[in-house]
Amino acid sequence: MRKILIVGAGQAGLQTGLSLLEHGYDVTVMSARTPEEIRGGRVMSTQAMFHTALQYERDYKLNLWEDQAPKIRGVGVSIAGSEGGRDLDWVGMLDNHAQSVDQRIKMAGWLELFEDRGGKVIFHGVTTSDLDSLTRHYELVLIAAGKGELVQLFGRNPDRSPYSTTQRVLSVSYVHGAERRPEHPDMDAVRFNVTPGVGELFVIPGVTLSGPCEIPFFEGLPGGPLDCWSDRPAAGEHWKRMLELMRQYFPWEYERFKHAELTDSQATLSGGYPPVVRHPVGELPSGGIVLGMADVVVANDPITGQGSNNASKCAASYLDSILERGDRPFDREWMERTFERYWSVVEPVTTWTNAMLQPPPEHVMNLFTQAAETPAIRQRFVNAFDDPADFGNWFLDPELAEQYLREVARG
Ligand SMILES: Cc1cc2nc3c(=O)[nH]c(=O)nc-3n(C[C@H](O)[C@H](O)[C@H](O)COP(=O)(O)OP(=O)(O)OC[C@H]3O[C@@H](n4cnc5c(N)ncnc54)[C@H](O)[C@@H]3O)c2cc1C
Repeated sequence: MRKILIVGAGQAGLQTGLSLLEHGYDVTVMSARTPEEIRGGRVMSTQAMFHTALQYERDYKLNLWEDQAPKIRGVGVSIAGSEGGRDLDWVGMLDNHAQSVDQRIKMAGWLELFEDRGGKVIFHGVTTSDLDSLTRHYELVLIAAGKGELVQLFGRNPDRSPYSTTQRVLSVSYVHGAERRPEHPDMDAVRFNVTPGVGELFVIPGVTLSGPCEIPFFEGLPGGPLDCWSDRPAAGEHWKRMLELMRQYFPWEYERFKHAELTDSQATLSGGYPPVVRHPVGELPSGGIVLGMADVVVANDPITGQGSNNASKCAASYLDSILERGDRPFDREWMERTFERYWSVVEPVTTWTNAMLQPPPEHVMNLFTQAAETPAIRQRFVNAFDDPADFGNWFLDPELAEQYLREVARG
């Protein structure tokens, strides 16, 4: 039985660990926190996940909360106009539903499931010096520790990292008691609201510890009015401040949320980080090598809601590479190839996400405007959240966009 160590109990680490167990591998996961600590801790994400990623979970019977989480059937786009109104407001339908399960529930539950299914868990925050000795005891060590300190093992790849500073200041609250959406009261959808020069407000229906909830999530331009969290306000003040900002910059959403309340005292989050792509192989002083995965090696800004989807796709891609390797050694060359295989999946996501951090170019505004009249354009845009490679075929390039609009007009 091949022995594999995974450091980090998030989407990437646990999905990989649980699926490797099913294939008969001897897997150990090292987690900085116990399930109780995760459940009792702060929210970590907004984690909207689309069909491909959800299907990877179903394939390994990891979709334990599928019946509890609201089914997200569409993605809406609104762009603010003058006097609190919207210049643009439409919703496109997803071919298959998306879902958001609070990572506190999911990761705590998956850790317990991993032990129940025969995996070994060591509760320990791993340091580089721990890894130095650990690499001798395992055939493969995967670092799935997110954006924490262990990323220092992996050098930044400047050719794949156009930004070196934080592009958005993030703030999130999980709340109960929002009104139904006036635009489509019978349907749950992720809403993507933009106020030019200020930032974005996403609203994601999800499930948390106390049941279904809504998750408003600001992506503020640095230096703008949504960049106001450096004093780390307590939870109640955080939500009050988000509401006031909503009232000023996204008044149509404020109307839904003005009577909502936080789901719990740990239901707020703020921060931000520069998007970065790193080299995938980390070398330890002893000469041992480790392979980075998901956010460790490709950390995109969450503006397109893709990080958990990427972590899931990374887990699925690395799993295939591990299985195909059979009994041969997991050497540096295999590690490089394993990452490049994943990069072919995540590169289009990174390109699109980095583009969405810029003000929308004219051809994108034109597409969004035409989408209001043409369901096919809306459909293509929202379904590309599941398959972002499609954006390269029409959305990201002005000529391809024009060609596509001509095709749509011809019917
Ligand atoms: C505000 C916000 C909103 C987001 N919204 C979305 C969204 O809607 N959709 C989406 O797909 N993505 C979203 N993301 C991104 C998504 O949350 C991440 O990309 C995803 O969780 C990455 O998974 P991961 O497994 O790589 O890392 P993580 O989820 O960060 O997991 C890493 C784990 O490793 C542990 N760890 C860290 N260091 C150590 C150590 N030294 N030793 C042991 N354990 C360690 C951590 O405690 C954690 O449990 C969002 C992110 C943010 C910040």
